[in-house]
Amino acid sequence: MAASNEYSVAVVGAGPVGLSAALQLGMNGVDVLVLEQRGTQSTHPRAHVVNARTMELFRTWGIADVVCSAGLPPDLATGFGWLTSLSSDAFATLNYVDDHTAELHSPERLCSCAQDRVESALYDRVSEIDSVTVQFDSEVVALAEHEDGAVLTVRRNGLDHDVRARYVIAADGANSTVRDLSGISLSRSEPLGRRMNIYFHADLHEVTRSRPYMLWFVYAAKTQGILIVLDPTRWVYSVELDPQRDPPGDFGRAQCHELIRAAVGVDDIEVDVVSVMPWQVDMAVASRFRSGPVFLAGDAAHRFPPMGGFGMNSGIQDTHNLAWKLSAVLNGTAGESLLDSYDAERRPVADYNAAQSMDNARRQKQSAAMLTKQETLRQLASPDGEQIRNDIAAGIGMLSEEFHAQGQVFGSVYRSAAVIDDGTPACESTITDYRPTARPGARAPHVRLRTDSGRCVSTIELLDGHWTLLTFGDASAWRRAADHVQSEVGTPLRTFGIGEDFGDGVDLVDAEQPGVWRTVYGLDAGGAVVVRPDGHVATRWCRPPAQREEQALKIALACVLGRAGTTRTPASTAGAVRGR
Ligand SMILES: Cc1cc2nc3c(=O)[nH]c(=O)nc-3n(C[C@H](O)[C@H](O)[C@H](O)COP(=O)(O)OP(=O)(O)OC[C@H]3O[C@@H](n4cnc5c(N)ncnc54)[C@H](O)[C@@H]3O)c2cc1C
Repeated sequence: MAASNEYSVAVVGAGPVGLSAALQLGMNGVDVLVLEQRGTQSTHPRAHVVNARTMELFRTWGIADVVCSAGLPPDLATGFGWLTSLSSDAFATLNYVDDHTAELHSPERLCSCAQDRVESALYDRVSEIDSVTVQFDSEVVALAEHEDGAVLTVRRNGLDHDVRARYVIAADGANSTVRDLSGISLSRSEPLGRRMNIYFHADLHEVTRSRPYMLWFVYAAKTQGILIVLDPTRWVYSVELDPQRDPPGDFGRAQCHELIRAAVGVDDIEVDVVSVMPWQVDMAVASRFRSGPVFLAGDAAHRFPPMGGFGMNSGIQDTHNLAWKLSAVLNGTAGESLLDSYDAERRPVADYNAAQSMDNARRQKQSAAMLTKQETLRQLASPDGEQIRNDIAAGIGMLSEEFHAQGQVFGSVYRSAAVIDDGTPACESTITDYRPTARPGARAPHVRLRTDSGRCVSTIELLDGHWTLLTFGDASAWRRAADHVQSEVGTPLRTFGIGEDFGDGVDLVDAEQPGVWRTVYGLDAGGAVVVRPDGHVATRWCRPPAQREEQALKIALACVLGRAGTTRTPASTAGAVRGR
């Protein structure tokens, strides 16, 4: 943009969501200014669950390996244990998800990596991109929206100055100033309670050896809470605050030490309390995710209880939905109306995740309430409490939606003007049961494929942030069409022919059994799907289209991109029998 204080996009907040937005925009060559009120990045680890969908995005952004190696080794993060102290045997366990199920749905796995480490990985990657500037000690204190953008007033070292931006992404967290300045209201729940997270360093290798869990639910007489292992020397202990008993302020260090030692079950363990963070168990979702040039993302748009681990993940996925749209509008390939699909697509996901996270929190609270009765706690710890320990182990299944949420992770299906419905019956996932579908709006599902040199790849790896066309069988006609259309629409479109055997125009085949890919994607020979840069299906022709491929593609892309003068392809033409 013209002057030194003018940017295409200003991102407010350098948390995981703001940095993710800046990274993707920067990778697309957009000039971005990130404004962060803090002097440095946050060091208190809040989130640690990075779900497999976010890991798929991290792979595309080149940080998956860094995040994995900064996280808990996968063999130490296989599930959850219930015990009377960390030094006792678990009386109930729940595996996170079996290997087979995980592999069916994604080339990536959940990674347990502390939020501060995730933020460092994002920040280091952002720092490599010339078109992105991250400015610390810069608090946004005022906002004026104009027809052609926004002016932000930024307070830096006590002085105010203005920054102009065509678009603003408010990634400034749950108490978002930008959201308030934009006049966007929140719908929120009553709190289900308050908790205190104590972040501490202690070497607990000895007590955790051979018990590979990432969360430990502790039910001791002196303390009940959740021990979260970030790595065997970095831990968080999370306890419920009792408004009758606990003071409103922070716990003192001595109290933290006492609670941690009781939870670990070792009196002389050396503990270094680093920081404490009180938080409320509740949810809030903004009434709109857009006001003119301002877009809300992450906690500024929605806050959930962390039970299930969806807050940061959803926020990062918001930016994945938004960044390609902003880039396309800024580079002139899409119409401004494309940006309205952000609210239409992401707000329903936020509502869904908010409701489900509240259900998870309620169930966790119920199960804790049953266990924390004094008589139960006494029996749990006593040698003759076998019956109650068995009963509890049997009842842990009520929490399965919190820990086995493959459907919630992969199953969102967008409905908006940036998707062309093909009129096929909906294929809805449940929370725990992900039903792969390539119906327009869905995340293009993972299927394992093989190249002619024998290399295995996932469909997810073919979708690396670009527009992609996948066709069943010989891709020659679609490839020619894509070449013509991309010069006209200005959107590069990578084309892959996927078949059951190698032959003309077939780039990849099913890695395991012939026919898996075409069945999951619901295509006959010559049918195709167009996948958006965020990996969601824009449109599908189950059979060869009624018009020539070039015509069908041109209309579909123009329609999805909201280019002026286009009319939507009626669902009935998608997948119709071709008649030239
Ligand atoms: C105990 C706990 C456990 C959690 N566990 C998980 C989990 O396992 N998985 C998961 O996905 N989520 C989890 N979450 C949620 C997750 O921490 C949040 O969703 C995530 O931090 C949101 O990121 P964000 O970037 O939107 O906001 P934030 O991380 O809050 O970042 C916002 C940034 O904006 C800056 N800022 C604020 N106002 C201004 C301003 N006016 N000007 C400039 N800068 C400003 C702030 O300083 C901050 O750096 C957990 C949350 C809690 C409380």
